[in-house]
Amino acid sequence: MIAGKPILVLGGGIAGMTAALEAAEAGCEVVLVEKAPYLGGRVAKMNLYFPKLCPPSCGLEINLKRLRANPRIQVLTQAELIELSGSAGDFTATVKVAPRYVTAACTRCGFCAEACPAERPDEFNYGLSKTKAVYLPHAMAWPERYVVERPLCPPGCAACAQACPYGAVDLHQQEERRTFQVAAVIAATGWAPYNAARIEGLGYGESKNVVTNLVLERLAAPNGPTGGKILRPSDGRAPRLVAFVQCAGSRDENHLPYCSGVCCAASLKQAAYVRSQYPDARVVVFYIDIRTSGRLEDFYSRIAADTNVQFIKGKVAHIDEDPATGDLVVHAEDILRGKQLALHADLVVLATGIVPQTQGLPAAFPVDEYRFAGNGKAGLYPAGCAHRPEEVSASVQEATGAALKALHCVVRSAHHG
Ligand SMILES: Cc1cc2nc3c(=O)[nH]c(=O)nc-3n(C[C@H](O)[C@H](O)[C@H](O)COP(=O)(O)OP(=O)(O)OC[C@H]3O[C@@H](n4cnc5c(N)ncnc54)[C@H](O)[C@@H]3O)c2cc1C
Repeated sequence: MIAGKPILVLGGGIAGMTAALEAAEAGCEVVLVEKAPYLGGRVAKMNLYFPKLCPPSCGLEINLKRLRANPRIQVLTQAELIELSGSAGDFTATVKVAPRYVTAACTRCGFCAEACPAERPDEFNYGLSKTKAVYLPHAMAWPERYVVERPLCPPGCAACAQACPYGAVDLHQQEERRTFQVAAVIAATGWAPYNAARIEGLGYGESKNVVTNLVLERLAAPNGPTGGKILRPSDGRAPRLVAFVQCAGSRDENHLPYCSGVCCAASLKQAAYVRSQYPDARVVVFYIDIRTSGRLEDFYSRIAADTNVQFIKGKVAHIDEDPATGDLVVHAEDILRGKQLALHADLVVLATGIVPQTQGLPAAFPVDEYRFAGNGKAGLYPAGCAHRPEEVSASVQEATGAALKALHCVVRSAHHG
């Protein structure tokens, strides 16, 4: 056990969980604050990880096991930092914790959801399916309990509380404010997808068969809305030709001027999903450059060796839909062959870029011109995609480094009282 104040970690995705676990396993107290009702962040919603194509549930399960075994980590979900003052070694942090309305007595029996009359779009499936207003966020959700989305409850309804055999539903819970003295803060608040509806001409929001790369992860996931079958949202038909549009928002002065770093490898991975489900299907990837640095180049070569996966260098100008069939026509320039083309596709996947989620960080946290959290202030350390676009292994490495920096503040805080 290291003497000194705790570390505050903001964000319970892979980066925040890693930072919290590394610091706690080194002997430090940690307060882990997560906005959502569950830990895991974006990767909990992925089907498989590139480059190994293994399920993220393995890594998540290992982290949850480490978390359960470590009494030094206090996890607050549905929580957000609302105030931070002080300096390295001696911060005062105020955290707002929203009521979950379900206590630790929950056994996940699900009787509450059976009794619930109200529905909500399932945020875990990006709205592709629905849950009841009392719901389990997903099968591996931590904390392992249901949560009530109270604003959706019909007036006076307490059906969930009445149905619960364990008395675990408490609809009278109130929001709490908690104050912590902490030595350092790690910002691991992650990323959100760029809003593809802002990109003119690509048909997002107009055609159901133009989806984002995040939606494709859910369509391919066994615990997703289609049970893991990649089907066209408009008619549930198996796609024969899937087109990927790279840099949907990224590397574009009108949208995100920077490269989002992970989208090329993500599309290659998703091309593999399509090809493994449909041996006759074709995949066409429209790209500016394929960016797969380091060992990811081997992954690119492996996917590119499939003759049913074609790469066309060129920016997509616009996508039209035949309203009668939902079929799509992708209009693009093939730069290397010097011609315009119109490709018929059943499904288009937009490789939407990464937008840092730093709006909830304390004002003292430095951010750059694109609003990624930066280094530069003692006691405040960024990690994961809140800092820069990066894949899981880089996020984990960076989070480990941030935990070490924060530990320095803890040790100093012990020496200075
Ligand atoms: C389509 C796609 C596919 C991908 N596939 C892969 C892959 O196969 N392999 C790979 O290595 N990488 C992949 N990535 C990249 C991967 O998603 C990121 O590396 C990873 O999500 C980074 O984790 P993170 O913890 O930094 O952020 P996140 O996963 O975004 O987690 C951040 C957490 O912080 C919480 N949060 C946000 N704001 C606050 C706040 N104010 N207070 C408290 N909590 C907050 C969020 O709710 C979330 O739980 C993919 C990316 C995309 C776009």
